[in-house]
Amino acid sequence: MDRANRKCVMLLITPTSYRGGAFNAAAHRLAIDVVHGIDVPDTLSREWDVELPLDFSRPHVSTDRIADFVADHPVDAIISVDDSASILAAMATSRLGLPGNDPNAALAARDKHVMRRLLAEHGVPVPVFRAFPAYADPLATSTAIDFPCVVKPTLLSGSRGVIRANDPDEFVQAVMRTRGVIHDDGETLESATVLVEDFIPGFEVALEGLLDAGELQVLALFDKPDPLDGPFFEETIYVTPSRLPADVQSAIADCTRRAAEALGLREGPVHAELRVNEQGPWILEIAGRSIGGLCSTILEFGTGYALEELILMQATGTRVRGMKRNAGAVGVMMIPIPSGGILRSVSGIEEANQVPGITGIEITARVNHSIVPLPEGSSYLGFIFARGTTPREVEQSLRDAHDRLEFRITPEIRLRTVAIGNSGR
Ligand code: ADP
Repeated sequence: MDRANRKCVMLLITPTSYRGGAFNAAAHRLAIDVVHGIDVPDTLSREWDVELPLDFSRPHVSTDRIADFVADHPVDAIISVDDSASILAAMATSRLGLPGNDPNAALAARDKHVMRRLLAEHGVPVPVFRAFPAYADPLATSTAIDFPCVVKPTLLSGSRGVIRANDPDEFVQAVMRTRGVIHDDGETLESATVLVEDFIPGFEVALEGLLDAGELQVLALFDKPDPLDGPFFEETIYVTPSRLPADVQSAIADCTRRAAEALGLREGPVHAELRVNEQGPWILEIAGRSIGGLCSTILEFGTGYALEELILMQATGTRVRGMKRNAGAVGVMMIPIPSGGILRSVSGIEEANQVPGITGIEITARVNHSIVPLPEGSSYLGFIFARGTTPREVEQSLRDAHDRLEFRITPEIRLRTVAIGNSGR
């Protein structure tokens, strides 16, 4: 393609993102140029020779920087690869007049309390919720709570700090633990909020979609066949197509569309998590981004397009409406961390790879490094991918492969500096 006619996208990305590779590969296949806006401190950016260093935690300053950069290097779209830059992407696209979401919609999708308020105001089914200052006395607040409930921070993701409590005692423990997660993430307890919601029993699904001028195209509906009843909520298996009846699936799509509309999300990828029970679907969360981790690698559309290609095509003005996921069932297991410590070794990968239906295994945790389970941790040991003729078959392949993997984890001995008393020196 004539270079002058090539499209260019700016990808906003963190150095630790799993998702960059897939977006870069998609851009390459589509012959789209890419500039990376990377969340790195200025000092490191010189060392790493980063073209456009940004600070995602300072979206106003970073928007100015993007605008200056784009004045000399025009781009057709700005895409946040992960959740962390969704507000910045919305602010920058709105400043530059590029297609994107309203910054207020991006903000609502990032803050669980704002999200709950907007969804409830628009009549979208969400759990009953209450917000408390993180420093509030949990014993006193427990009197205002119905049990079972779910305690969660408002600004974190990946189920970090999300804890179920069945009674006032568990509630006090849960709040203390969630506070610790908030604090360790660098937020001050004085300004932080803890959200407490009714626990919604039911079957959980995740919907992957694309919004085009507010219209929702469902790309995949994933069942999560492992029960997610707490106390912590670690993601494990995702399988698509969903085994739910067609009318339930369309109710889920409708609920997601209403949730996006309530928040004001109109353009680009959406990822929603819902629970379904006899009362119908409930929105747990909706975000203006695509599915996280390496999960998207199992999805293929039309004549072999990846999810990231669809996102880039739509962002640069190519219609993708009507493009369907290819036939067959696919699934992924995010390998849970069984216990905290130091990961010493992983065995059984070859045997697991030989399980019929398994298409790949990626161990992303690093050997001899510390691994932290939920609710404090924020990652998995890795991913198992599978393909088959039915969702049941795919689920079984994932379970069989997981059974063959063995992770040796030894306890971590944490060293602590201790103040030495009056030693006379
Ligand atoms: P995060 O954005 O950190 O993933 P979520 O609010 O999506 O946080 O919660 C993570 C998981 O916790 C959900 O996928 C679900 O399994 C569980 N969960 C959260 N809130 C509720 C609730 N009110 N009722 C039942 N389960 C919940």
